[in-house]
Amino acid sequence: MIIDLVQGVENYIGGQWREAAGEHTTSVIDPATNEALATVPADGREGVAEAVNAAAKAYPEWKAVPPGDRIQFLFRFKQLLEEDFEAIARLISRENGKTYAEAAGELRRGIENVEVACGIPTMMQGYNLEDIARGIDETMIRQPLGVVGVITPFNFPVMIPLWFLPYAIACGNTVVLKPSEKVPLSARKVIEALERTGLPKGVVNLAHGGRAAADALIEHPEVRAISFVGSTPVAKHVYATAARHGKRVQCQGGAKNHVVVLPDADMETTTKIVGDSAFGCAGQRCLAVSTVVTVGEAHAAFRDALVETAGSLKVGSGLEPGIEMGPVITAASRSRIENAITRGIGDGARATLDGRGLRVEGYPDGNFVGPTVLDDVEANGFVASTEIFGPVLGLTPVRSLEEAIEVISRSRYGNASSIFTTSGASARKFRSEVPTGNVGVNIGVAAPMAYFPFSGWKDSFFGVLHGQGRDAVEFYTDKKVVVERWPQEWSRRF
Ligand code: NAD
Repeated sequence: MIIDLVQGVENYIGGQWREAAGEHTTSVIDPATNEALATVPADGREGVAEAVNAAAKAYPEWKAVPPGDRIQFLFRFKQLLEEDFEAIARLISRENGKTYAEAAGELRRGIENVEVACGIPTMMQGYNLEDIARGIDETMIRQPLGVVGVITPFNFPVMIPLWFLPYAIACGNTVVLKPSEKVPLSARKVIEALERTGLPKGVVNLAHGGRAAADALIEHPEVRAISFVGSTPVAKHVYATAARHGKRVQCQGGAKNHVVVLPDADMETTTKIVGDSAFGCAGQRCLAVSTVVTVGEAHAAFRDALVETAGSLKVGSGLEPGIEMGPVITAASRSRIENAITRGIGDGARATLDGRGLRVEGYPDGNFVGPTVLDDVEANGFVASTEIFGPVLGLTPVRSLEEAIEVISRSRYGNASSIFTTSGASARKFRSEVPTGNVGVNIGVAAPMAYFPFSGWKDSFFGVLHGQGRDAVEFYTDKKVVVERWPQEWSRRF
């Protein structure tokens, strides 16, 4: 299958594709082969400055376009994403490494956000009350902010930009997207589709680069708000920098997600779902389960079934048919993940399945790590508390549901957790008490649909308003309250 590859990465500024400036570049790598696909500027500050200027110039006119007209571009955008679906999914798979099926899944979830943002004429409405005092009326209207910056990570090259772009644009803002320098080619496809909708020039802009480009975007005086997704240390930095510069900011950070398996769970279903959750996208999902807390006698039954399922997963290039798990993003990630496994074993965990040193036939240079299951992981140790972001699942046995909730409560992260049980009362207790923002009950990846907020807690989120749905509309608009008096005696009578 031919892949529509882009050799040189270009910025999209004010409706024009321009070579991304900068002497120093970094390579975009195919994780299955480590071949270079393209280069991106290592810095990228100049491109950001140009992109923000273009967005600021386009803003007054775009703000004046009625919401019902603005969403016509999104209807066309959805249509174009559907038409290019296979090519985009293949490109995601190529530069990120995930399987084609996983790439198609992420694109589908991204398109959902475009669909939801088409409801802006309803979602953006304010409210009013006649006669707050005699002859005086009060109205709340929402207005766009201006230029907003979007900074995204490598693991969902299309879906995460689509968590933000459609809402920001539909609300009347103009946007600068700075995608991850590891996966800039899929972002280009998204922007190309937006360009083909006939969106006015400057409404959406693409500026490539690394951390210097991100900082330039956050600090630029014309940028009113920042939407960020990435690791927790960077999320904290972005949050603090944005606040220091007086920006509205939402930062989704890293994760360490737990699943609790009770002895009454349907073990066959549980094993399959948890296996998918842990090893899907090679564990590089912010909603991937990375620790299973087994309660009582659930431990042995779950472990044995899981090791069998995980051990039979077919690992290879995500673009090959029949492959169930692709490579991790870089050689550095592979070393980091393998070192974490080694350290976990050194700390006393038992590797019942060890994915270190995996070689895949036909792909000698790929960044492959096999599914790994570490048993008896100590609840407070390195493996249990560190986001490994790879196909590594730790098992921690406990005696009771209370103890399981206690283990989860001690985590610094609060992105997601799930419980597997056939008891409604246990599920209800878990749902109520567990301190994570996304909760699954007999669900392995509790990913909110586009019309619900993506609700991380603790070190998994910094800010107030989350991405997607109604929160997105709140985030991308300012409220204006108007109090009006129009006495009859000032008017001519008709
Ligand atoms: P990352 O933090 O390294 O990079 C994210 C973005 O920030 C990129 O665009 C990058 O160029 C930029 N960046 C990197 N270092 C920076 C710095 N010092 N200053 C300013 N900008 C900087 O994240 P990643 O490795 O691309 O993505 C994986 C991480 O993202 C994982 O921790 C994962 O859990 C997290 N993630 C979270 C969610 C969520 O919804 N909570 C979703 C997806 C991914």
